[in-house]
Amino acid sequence: MQIDLILIGDELLKGKVTDLNGPYLSHCLKSMGHSIGRIVIIADDLDSLAVEIASSFHRSDLIITSGGLGPTGDDRTKLALSKALNLPLIEDSNAIEVVKANYARKNREWIPELNQYHRIPKGMIPLNNPVGHAPALKYHLKSTTILALPGVPQEFKSIIDQEIGSLAIPLQNKKTVTFCTREVPEEVLFGTLCPELWSTLEPFGAVSSLPTPGGVILSVECSTQDTNKVSNIILNSKLGPYIWQVGDQSLPEYVFSLLSELGLTVSFAESCTGGLAANLMTNISGSSAVLTGGVVSYSNPVKINSLGVSKSTIATYSEVSVEVAKEMAIGARTILGSDIGISFTGIAGPTGATDTMPVGTVCIGYSTEKTSGAVVHHFKGTRDFLKTKFTMYGYYKILDLIALT
Ligand code: ATP
Ligand code: MG
Repeated sequence: MQIDLILIGDELLKGKVTDLNGPYLSHCLKSMGHSIGRIVIIADDLDSLAVEIASSFHRSDLIITSGGLGPTGDDRTKLALSKALNLPLIEDSNAIEVVKANYARKNREWIPELNQYHRIPKGMIPLNNPVGHAPALKYHLKSTTILALPGVPQEFKSIIDQEIGSLAIPLQNKKTVTFCTREVPEEVLFGTLCPELWSTLEPFGAVSSLPTPGGVILSVECSTQDTNKVSNIILNSKLGPYIWQVGDQSLPEYVFSLLSELGLTVSFAESCTGGLAANLMTNISGSSAVLTGGVVSYSNPVKINSLGVSKSTIATYSEVSVEVAKEMAIGARTILGSDIGISFTGIAGPTGATDTMPVGTVCIGYSTEKTSGAVVHHFKGTRDFLKTKFTMYGYYKILDLIALT
């Protein structure tokens, strides 16, 4: 099945906005054993858009467009659909009902003078928009279905959720098996550790390796009946000890689910990560059951006054040291009242290096009722990359502490 996604908007081409709709659609299709065959980004230009829709129509079984359904002059998707498919724009009575209902949900009244939402290409079906006002559109001709959706990610997502079941996408006898490994770079994993693994897996389907800050995500798209065989090959290979998850949750999501299952809480004391560890946890709905709090202790007085780090530890060992990291973690756990305390103190660069502490150094402290300590790592990379990598290693430390319980 050929599925095309046409992303519409100057802002996407100019780098002002990063596409969020492609990843969401991919995620939904993956669960049905499908993937997007082609993603195109097109400017808010009527002619280019009409040409793209027309050519996609001859090639694809399902075309999803994103954006350009709004009321402003740069919203030209309906005009382009009309031009590409030779369907005149008309005032549609069903569209009027849908628009009125979309407005009524927000306690507003729609009148035709407000916008042109009720004018749609003749024959297209207007769809309820659970989040916004503009109706999405559906059209089926020969063997191709077109779904024209708003660009606003929350609206795109809600209409995909609403419509995906009705698109007659045949379920594929395929499943993606995903493994997440930690701490070993991919050239080591597949170069020296398991040089035969890739060629052993390839006969089962497409194999992919995605490096992330702190690990590698290995996926094999195989037939449903081969999933156990593929999983066993990977788990029994030399990769086995480095695997922290069979699945595709993010590391914070995975840690969150483990902590919730065990009824454990965590807190963070963050210097060089600036709150990133706590932020990633709070991105997860329900995180208050697991995260008690966090302190961004960037300066020494905050380390001392908010976390109880001793002045003399800082004076003796410096603020980037395992000794200070350990006291920060103990402070987080005891003051913020959690089962686990995790801390970060390091040098994300590019400035701030000392003779003994190069950029990329991080001391990660940990504390539980039974044990407290700190480890030091040295990484290389840009400031953003290092902050993320430090944070991931803090999350790995939580996995290690859970394994000890
Ligand atoms: P509206 O009714 O808000 O005009 P629309 O369907 O016309 O919706 P756009 O005008 O293209 O959509 O975009 C609306 C907002 O959504 C803009 O802020 C835009 O930057 C954002 N947006 C559009 N497409 C995407 C995308 N693919 N990923 C993330 N954000 C997007
Ligand atoms: Mg718009």
